[in-house]
Amino acid sequence: MNPELSKSISNHPLPHREGEGWVSLLSPEQISLWHQLLSAAHNIVLTCHRGPDGDAIGSTTALASWLRRRYPETDVRIIAPTIFPDFLKWIPGADDILVYENHENEVRPIVEAADLVILCDHGELSRMWTLGDVVRDHPAPRILIDHHLNPEPGIAALIVSHPNLSSTCEVLLRIMQELSPSIASAADIPLLTHDEAVSLYTGMMTDTGAFTYASSRPEIFQLISILLQYGIDKDKIYRNIFFTYSPNRMKLMGYMLYVKLDVWKKAHTSIMTLTNAERRRFNVLNGDTEGLVNLPLQILGMKLSVFLREDTEHPCIRVSLRSVDDFPCNEMAAEFFGGGGHKNAAGGEVWGTMDDAIALVKKAVQKFMPQLKAK
Ligand code: 5GP
Ligand code: MN
Repeated sequence: MNPELSKSISNHPLPHREGEGWVSLLSPEQISLWHQLLSAAHNIVLTCHRGPDGDAIGSTTALASWLRRRYPETDVRIIAPTIFPDFLKWIPGADDILVYENHENEVRPIVEAADLVILCDHGELSRMWTLGDVVRDHPAPRILIDHHLNPEPGIAALIVSHPNLSSTCEVLLRIMQELSPSIASAADIPLLTHDEAVSLYTGMMTDTGAFTYASSRPEIFQLISILLQYGIDKDKIYRNIFFTYSPNRMKLMGYMLYVKLDVWKKAHTSIMTLTNAERRRFNVLNGDTEGLVNLPLQILGMKLSVFLREDTEHPCIRVSLRSVDDFPCNEMAAEFFGGGGHKNAAGGEVWGTMDDAIALVKKAVQKFMPQLKAK
């Protein structure tokens, strides 16, 4: 990376439009709270939701590196509540991530030694599996950086949560830009490194289905143009994430579409189910079911895709919902499946059998029929 270029990027101010476009994400009070929290911190733990996705891994790895360059005296660790899929392991810094699941006794003391916890990509401690309880019981102050609706009240001393933005990585890049000018130790260092730009791009790309949803605001592409100036290879990042199927996963995909897809034409809804017996038959690994729920939305006129899969550990059914246009998956997930999420991508669970879950989906579809039928 050309140092001259980095320098000009670090000084590059966000274009500023009054009204809806570029408004500061951080108020002056939030900026001063940031400095207060960071200057008091010696041991920072960054964490994210269970089942980390590209945005969770991208935001925590980018932030860890960014903090280490600005606060070199401070110890910064990333802890993921549970394991994450192999197709995210190439993300720069991902091999430093400590996984709480299966290593509770080694990792819990690191949380308990933290004097600041930064939560990324979720707004509820319950989304951190049992690590959420450890964090809840620990008195260190917390910062939340996120883009999910309705963060849990009191979850953090400093809450930066913007559901109208594509991803936590987008929120993070913007606050990095807003904070950098007032961090004395950062006066002469580039805003980002190449690797931080890769992490941030990965999160923005994965949370928008490679910019096919939740990404129509022009600002997101202005931010991407900044990331590209760090020399990232966006085409390679795309392949690293999406062209990673195993032969079994490809066969599972064919099986799901040929055998398991059920289209409820009048409701513009499709449903697919996956049992643990089928998982065994196709030797389904962690991550192999990722993205299957999106496929039925390629059918002309489809508004909602529902994917039900037996949980591998608990007697429950995981529910994934995806939609196009204005259909509110998060409302359906909250009302029927004890979950939540975003308008076009949400999830939850049903504590019961697959038949119970299918019956509940039918009820939910009935309830939302007016919106499903609307043009
Ligand atoms: P997925 O279908 O990939 O499991 O989840 C899609 C999105 O729905 C996630 O990014 C997350 O925002 C949300 N989500 C999934 N499961 C839950 C849940 O149990 N509770 C809440 N509040 N949100 C969920
Ligand atoms: Mn996200």
